[in-house]
Amino acid sequence: MAIVPQRRISKTRKRKRRTHFKLELPGMMVCPNCGEMKKGHTVCGKCGYYDGKLVKEIKVKAEEETVVDTKAEEKAKTKADKAKAKAEKKTTKKEEK
Ligand SMILES: [Zn+2]
Repeated sequence: MAIVPQRRISKTRKRKRRTHFKLELPGMMVCPNCGEMKKGHTVCGKCGYYDGKLVKEIKVKAEEETVVDTKAEEKAKTKADKAKAKAEKKTTKKEEK
């Protein structure tokens, strides 16, 4: 038979004990090559540099970046088009008056 506690631990005691249960941030640092945050003593996941040398070539992320850039460009284009259309509408309204 297992040991049975004489009194159950109250909600408050349980919660007070668990205030110390928390995750800690790993030791982060700024990559000296690209300026991105990375874990200390590890190869940078963004640029693949460690100790000022290229250790690992990262291809997938670069492709993703270009995709993101094109999307951003498209968004900017559509915004510019909308602004142009608005400006044109305003000018036509003024002309009508
Ligand atoms: Zn880096």
